[in-house]
Amino acid sequence: MAHLTWIKNPLAILAENAEGGIVVEDQEIVELVPAGGSPAASSDDQITIFDASYHVVLPGLINVHHHFYQTLTRACPVAINKPLFPWLKSLYPLWAELDGEMMGQASTLALAESMLSGCTTASDHHYLFPKALPDAIDIQVKQANMLGVRVHLTRGSMSLGVDQGGLPPQSTVQDEDTILDDSERLINLYHDPNPGSMVQIALAPCSPFSVSTELMKSSALLARKYGVRLHTHLAETHDETEFCLSMFGRRPVDYLEDVGWLADDVWLAHGIHFNDEEIVRLGKAGVGIAHCPSSNMILSSGIARTLELEKAGSPVGLGVDGSASNDGSNMIQEVRQALLLQRLRYDASEITHQSAYRWATEGSARCLGRDDIGKLKVGNQADLALFKLDEPRFSGSGDPLAALVLCGAHQVDALMIAGDWRVRDGEIPDLDMAELMHHHHRLGLKLQASSV
Ligand SMILES: [Zn+2]
Repeated sequence: MAHLTWIKNPLAILAENAEGGIVVEDQEIVELVPAGGSPAASSDDQITIFDASYHVVLPGLINVHHHFYQTLTRACPVAINKPLFPWLKSLYPLWAELDGEMMGQASTLALAESMLSGCTTASDHHYLFPKALPDAIDIQVKQANMLGVRVHLTRGSMSLGVDQGGLPPQSTVQDEDTILDDSERLINLYHDPNPGSMVQIALAPCSPFSVSTELMKSSALLARKYGVRLHTHLAETHDETEFCLSMFGRRPVDYLEDVGWLADDVWLAHGIHFNDEEIVRLGKAGVGIAHCPSSNMILSSGIARTLELEKAGSPVGLGVDGSASNDGSNMIQEVRQALLLQRLRYDASEITHQSAYRWATEGSARCLGRDDIGKLKVGNQADLALFKLDEPRFSGSGDPLAALVLCGAHQVDALMIAGDWRVRDGEIPDLDMAELMHHHHRLGLKLQASSV
């Protein structure tokens, strides 16, 4: 006898031939039910029905670029209204004061905030390991397991301090042996490559202007030894291009190729300032791009060439980026931002709500090298985001799937991850959100005060 859950007769669903809903067993989708149909369950099976007639059902949204710790420095007075390099220089000294308590609270808050916005898989890029925080990734694994959310945690790194011609202060960088030893430890301890995996590790030297050439190369060798993916920031601003030209005599993509990173096990945050020839090379190699529209607008960085990149062969996913340059972690809002920003580059007919959903689901899954999430189909993980259209902003809307994006949805009613309900009635069970926010906010103000 099987225990099944039938998400029955949704108001709308982002899947083909599933108007009657979907059936979940354990952690997987086992059936798509066509319009007017019923599950093909045997008489022995036990079916729990979830009436979805007021819900719009999406595949769980997948965030492919975030910095959880930055939720502690949102709207930070020393950093607001600045472009990337001055913004970073203002924030590095604060971030050097991070400790374990802050990391735990920031990770929990960022994940909870993400889940409430429809995110079922979150990737974090963490590259700060000051003396008081050697175990940042271990803390993140613990908090993600507690919330039951799927994570791809990237062991970031910075090794090029100001003394070596880099951007970050010396107190925020680590030596390369320490970085590689810890990366290997984390892969061995936490990385699960199997279908349905809840925790994966990737290696993520921070950016060309904060990491040595040697570390870029050795990280790639280590990642390939273990079959884990590689991630970094690239082509975010013109400042970065100038830095690469003066430091390495190469444009960012040439530099990426030099260090062995032009490959399909790599995904890049931002990927804005590529020329035509570079887009062809990236696409041919299958390098993924994490499009981060809100951050790119806040820092005046530019507009990624998403359609050309996809056409060339690059997976394009969606990321909220750090919460000091967004300053939120809301995935369904980021879907809307992607639609709006990309319409400044392309025609309205080329960028639809379906395009934006594609980036946040299938495109993001491809960036992370996953084929078991990102699409509602039989055999895939049961990761679902369910939204209701019961707020004034939706009143009078015609197409429910378009309405979520165009009217500005911001919170799920329910969220399922690996077959378990992780949000019901707009709340995360067993999480005291008021207490979490109180504690987190206090630590945020403490961190922001550490610069003066
Ligand atoms: Zn970032």
